[in-house]
Amino acid sequence: MSFYVVRVAVPVPLRRSFDYLPCEGSQRADWQAGQRVRVQFGQQLLTAIVLSTEEQTDVPANKLKPLLERLDEYPLLSAEQLQLGQWLSRYYHHSIGEVLELMLPAMLRRGSSLDEALEDGWQRRPDQPSMPTLRGSQQQALWQRFEQQANWSHSALTQQGFSLAQLRRLAELELIEATRSLPVPATTDDSKPPLPLNPEQQKALDALLPELGRFRIALLEGVTGSGKTEVYLQLIAEALQRGQQVMVLVPEIGLTPQTVQRFRERFGVPVVAVHSGLNDRERLQAWCLCHEGRARILIGTRSAVFTPMPQLGLIVLDEEHDNSFKQQDGVRYSARDFALVRAQKAAIPILLGSATPALETLNNALSGRYLHLKLTQRAGNAKPPGMKLHSTLHQPLTFGLAQPVIAKIQQHVEAGRQVLVFINRRGYAPLFACPDCGWLAECRRCDARLTLHQSPLRLHCHHCDYQQGVPGFCPQCHSDKVTALGQGTERLADDLARMFPDVPVTRIDRDTARTRNAFEELLAEVHQPGKRILVGTQMLAKGHHFPSVTMVVILDADAGLFSADFRGMEQTAQLILQVAGRAGRAEHPGEVWIQTLYADHPQLNLLINDGYHALAETLLKERLYQQLPPYSHMAMLRAESPNKALAEQLLQQARQYLQQISPPPQASGGLAPLVLVGPFPAIMERRAGRFRQQLQMFCAERAGLHSKLDPLVDFLHSLKGFHQVRWHLDIDPVDTL
Ligand code: ADP
Ligand code: ZN
Ligand code: ZN
Repeated sequence: MSFYVVRVAVPVPLRRSFDYLPCEGSQRADWQAGQRVRVQFGQQLLTAIVLSTEEQTDVPANKLKPLLERLDEYPLLSAEQLQLGQWLSRYYHHSIGEVLELMLPAMLRRGSSLDEALEDGWQRRPDQPSMPTLRGSQQQALWQRFEQQANWSHSALTQQGFSLAQLRRLAELELIEATRSLPVPATTDDSKPPLPLNPEQQKALDALLPELGRFRIALLEGVTGSGKTEVYLQLIAEALQRGQQVMVLVPEIGLTPQTVQRFRERFGVPVVAVHSGLNDRERLQAWCLCHEGRARILIGTRSAVFTPMPQLGLIVLDEEHDNSFKQQDGVRYSARDFALVRAQKAAIPILLGSATPALETLNNALSGRYLHLKLTQRAGNAKPPGMKLHSTLHQPLTFGLAQPVIAKIQQHVEAGRQVLVFINRRGYAPLFACPDCGWLAECRRCDARLTLHQSPLRLHCHHCDYQQGVPGFCPQCHSDKVTALGQGTERLADDLARMFPDVPVTRIDRDTARTRNAFEELLAEVHQPGKRILVGTQMLAKGHHFPSVTMVVILDADAGLFSADFRGMEQTAQLILQVAGRAGRAEHPGEVWIQTLYADHPQLNLLINDGYHALAETLLKERLYQQLPPYSHMAMLRAESPNKALAEQLLQQARQYLQQISPPPQASGGLAPLVLVGPFPAIMERRAGRFRQQLQMFCAERAGLHSKLDPLVDFLHSLKGFHQVRWHLDIDPVDTL
């Protein structure tokens, strides 16, 4: 037997593969790329992925260790997934082991067997004998269940009050038998019919249908309430007809319940939802259902983009501009950008939807690289909301609200409608201060103020989670006049309840909607008919349909207007329109009031009067002029350390290294130069006790940037004396503060 080694990807930061001897008794033909194996790596036992078998290795014979165990008989990751993993590894400059780990649910990463996804259940026997008489009404009720549906999970039946003894009795009568299988989500028979499309929707659908079966990126730019989802649904219907699986990606867990329901009602096929509310076993089950092709539609948040779907025929990515598609730690991938690559590899279309597309996407659509479809009208009878900037300059405010705004709210609730008041700040008050000496409650570990919360009463840092009690006296001058300054959702909800004593107030933010259940209960409350005031953060802004909201008030939009982030205005505009889009989505027209100190801000006016597109075109011109994305490609190296000087030194070294390996402009042979900005401190320099520094890198050509980053990462790994510094590379960062 000839010598060979098994080359594997190990989930560690070292950007290379590792060679091991095969386990005893295995044949070379047993090893297939994509199988999991157990390896000893230093002191650790890790789950690795087989990449190949090789006859040559650089590892000296006496250093070669055998693999401990092969975990899978067949590959868990397909050749296509392994190739996508290679792309991720190259593009985000992470080790192949780390990126392949992303593609597996936690239980499979830990080495669990696929069998752990199976559940005990019961099924009606196909070979039923002549029907015996069933004793007792419970027995009959149980049998009725099996007449309705052949397969049941054991837990579903016990939850309905049936006992194991009763089930065993039916099994003895040879009516049913025990099973172990994947729990396939229930489907409904009474699928709801599609809506007749309006002409714009029809035009979009007609343009999309011919794209099924080939790679194409399409942007569906449709104002909020224009019926984008209906277009998705009808396109999906066709993909399902062709026997394809469909992946639908949405920004946040909050979006999923309503969306999932809509999909289940429309199609009589198993729909699997993957979101952060699932436990590890449910994730594994969802993964298996998709992998085996039994789930026909997957609806999920960011990480669902890696789910294997062998018959994938279409990807829909809703709210494509949403930053939650970008992972903010570990491998900082963009689920949108990865989905584009995945669609290309699979030769299928991908549909991006948004009312407020990211400038990167819009630029691609405007230049003709993407198919650009527009829905300019609201669907059905809904009218677009009227938007108004209300200047609060030199105006008295009551509980943060201007008089005319209060009067308007009054009108709407008196008419039995709902009003949504948006403030992007949770807690009771953003400041807790002493009026006598000017003391402010600050976080000890961050350059940030502590937020006052009432229930439970505490001072809380929203950046590092530090919490402390609320002092009754100023720690500096011992004055007892310490007090809350400013307004968060909690205080605003209290104040509004006081101002409108007979109007129910519902607050929706991360504190009240901590769990999925809590969130759904709040949504159920909001869907009750009658007057109501909703107070919330951007949690409220996303995708939810609130048919009775006829007025939206936006407080404190000003913060974003002067952001140091070059995407500040883009993101503010997106947020304003998303929130505004909650108004008047049903038969009643809506109005939106934006309180601002800068009512003559040109870009804000452009947005209000001419819409997102007009603003976006102006912003794109600015970006072109400044050579910012999408007209250049950006990466950011961030470093943080309890030692301020060290973080900066590391980035200085990185900068020098990059300059060294970049040819001077005159010798670059026409290559686009690498532009370095920094190192400079992050806006909030100290967070959780660490000083944060950043180095920004821009290049007009993607290849020009990426060719420098691999050597840079190797250089950083080779640096000595920086063990107190944590660093990471962020490709196409969405947050540059
Ligand atoms: P978007 O996702 O573009 O914000 P939705 O798809 O949620 O909008 O649609 C908004 C509302 O319009 C929904 O209640 C939907 O049922 C309704 N709707 C969509 N298309 C039509 C149509 N062709 N005719 C009537 N109502 C429609
Ligand atoms: Zn004081
Ligand atoms: Zn803090």
